[in-house]
Amino acid sequence: MPTRPAPATSRREFLRRVSLGAALLGTANWTRLAAAIAEPPQRKLGVVLVGLGGYSSGQLGPALRETKLCRLAGVVTGSPAKAARWAKDYGLPANCLYNYETMERMADNPAIDIVYVVTPNGLHAEHAIHAARAGKHVICEKPMANTVAECDAMIAACRAAGRKLAIGYRQHYHSSLVDLALLAQNKRFGDLMKMSGGFAFRTWDKTWRQTRKLGGGGPLMDLGIYIIQEACVTAGATPVAVTAKADPVTRPKVFDEVEETLHFTLEFPNGAQCEGRTSYNQSYNHFRAEGANGWIELEPAFAYHGISGRTNHGPLRFPDVNQQAAQMDDFAACILENRESTVPGEMGRRDLQIIEATYRAMRSGQREAV
Ligand code: NAD
Repeated sequence: MPTRPAPATSRREFLRRVSLGAALLGTANWTRLAAAIAEPPQRKLGVVLVGLGGYSSGQLGPALRETKLCRLAGVVTGSPAKAARWAKDYGLPANCLYNYETMERMADNPAIDIVYVVTPNGLHAEHAIHAARAGKHVICEKPMANTVAECDAMIAACRAAGRKLAIGYRQHYHSSLVDLALLAQNKRFGDLMKMSGGFAFRTWDKTWRQTRKLGGGGPLMDLGIYIIQEACVTAGATPVAVTAKADPVTRPKVFDEVEETLHFTLEFPNGAQCEGRTSYNQSYNHFRAEGANGWIELEPAFAYHGISGRTNHGPLRFPDVNQQAAQMDDFAACILENRESTVPGEMGRRDLQIIEATYRAMRSGQREAV
């Protein structure tokens, strides 16, 4: 959409107001978190990572060296060699090393407060329910589970145990998402009309991610979910319907169970739409929202670092934060202050509801209600 460039002074004023607004919109969360960090508890809450794969090793373990309110207290792994390596690297005592069969014994370990489930998607429900039954608070990686029914069981288990449940939606701890929501919802660009997003990377061999049992689906479960999240936060609403179409599979040996590339359109109650594209055979990472009078776009939009944004008035500047550390500290603050997470199990469940509708639309070729 062609737009007239803003005069320099109004551009400066606009960008100043965006960052001010972003600060204000995020104030509630960030002020609470900053206050909690300013007066840290006598004992940092103990976090156990369940599953020591790429995300735990590359991001969560290192982030737990930076957290102020929680620390790595133990691990759950099927590999004794990995347990020994993590024990050495992070100084973990032998009684805090578990495997998948012994993890419910955490019930007797007061050093453990939070269990962070980082296993393949199809195992999230089982591991989160074990953790709740052991009396621990739970963070579960995205997607929350393979199905809405599994999400319901996880929410029920945490409620029955009187424990909190949050989803690993790290992007909520980056100000780019706050800017998107602010610009869309205060109608600075007029009514939100259109969004678009793409998230893809190329995978080579068949792993659990391309299986129905452990992946739950293909790139939609893993990457497309970020577009769903971004669109719902930007619109401040849940889509009412969805259409979807998978591209023909180019590597049938790898993609014999799940989609390889998927296009989907989410329809929001106010008429705005989000066109999403996700793939395990391409490479992109962006999100854009358009109103009647302007636009905001992020590229990369979903990265761990270096998220970059601009509007039709000029570039946006974001402080670089450790999203994982902020996310875990915020959950610890929720526990210490007895309040609910802003990324609760119910949000993870809503996203699975949208994903289930998207897969129904992919199979039926029809518009499906969410
Ligand atoms: P990964 O394949 O690198 O690690 C998975 C771990 O689970 C491995 O240590 C593996 O040994 C263990 N595991 C236990 N039981 C298993 C079984 N039956 N089959 C296969 N593995 C088994 O995966 P990952 O990239 O660490 O992803 C783990 C979870 O974290 C996924 O749910 C993924 O969506 C999520 N994740 C989130 C982000 C984010 O930015 N929030 C990034 C990456 C991954």
